[in-house]
Amino acid sequence: MSASRVAVVTGSNRGIGLATVRSLCSKFEGSVYLTSRNEDRGQEAVKKIRDEGLPVKYHQLDIGSENSIKNFRDSMLDSYGGIDVLINNAGVKSKDTIPIGIQAKYVLGTNFFSTFNVSNLLLPHIKSNGRVVNIAGFVSLRALKQCSTELQEEFRSASITEDQLIMRMNDYINFAEKGTLKENGLPGSAYEFSKLGVSVLSRIQARLLSEQGKNNILLNACCPGWVRTDMGGPKALKSPEEGAETPVYLALLPKGTSEPHGQYVSDKKVRRW
Ligand code: NDP
Repeated sequence: MSASRVAVVTGSNRGIGLATVRSLCSKFEGSVYLTSRNEDRGQEAVKKIRDEGLPVKYHQLDIGSENSIKNFRDSMLDSYGGIDVLINNAGVKSKDTIPIGIQAKYVLGTNFFSTFNVSNLLLPHIKSNGRVVNIAGFVSLRALKQCSTELQEEFRSASITEDQLIMRMNDYINFAEKGTLKENGLPGSAYEFSKLGVSVLSRIQARLLSEQGKNNILLNACCPGWVRTDMGGPKALKSPEEGAETPVYLALLPKGTSEPHGQYVSDKKVRRW
């Protein structure tokens, strides 16, 4: 086992994830892992970064596969004794023309449930003074405001549990399949609701870390801004490098810092949830 430090970015073969890896390679003191679900696409991205003279490392990681997450976890434990920085960046969006029930299953499946699985398997191995960043987005606040008053209260509550949140996420899929989202006080965009889930999950995870006495680990949700990637499209306002700024800022919060923790952060500022 080695004491050297390691930073990991999920879904980092393109877009904001790739820009985050590039930035960490020059700023993080330790190994930086570019990870991808598809090994060929990952290796292509690694070549790009190495051609820029940056010393990136690679590991396959499909957040939708429990086996893949476990292989990754075991490899990090063998080589580094855990993980110092975890950036949960991997995410998907679906076309609006697809029936909402199918969108909900697919998008919540990856953005919320797979991110939740990664967290369950990796959070116990985040090292002392570690940093965890969950990429949510401004749309999570928009989704929150579109929920019924009761649901808004629940999603803002300081005592909401993981089980409660999972129930709400499953409810969303069921109501989307039945076409009854509106009647049940839920917003119409599955993508936006999946990101609301990531933001609420981050608040819960931060609280649990504090309750476990892991006070020097900081975990936050963030918004990268509207970014020119395959997902954000060509009209978006920020370059991928600009989009990576807030995630990298949260990943590199210096040792001894006690906040932000359990917050929703955009443009490096804590926003009211
Ligand atoms: P892209 O679509 O450009 O990239 C998404 C990345 O996630 C790809 O590398 C993709 O891999 C990967 N991915 C998807 N599913 C999985 C999986 N199961 N396992 C591993 N990797 C996976 O998106 P962006 O770079 O724009 O977005 C990155 C994150 O930022 C997302 O979570 C997104 O929701 C969020 N975000 C983006 C905004 C924007 O304006 N762009 C705004 C706010 C938030 P592959 O190449 O194999 O498909």
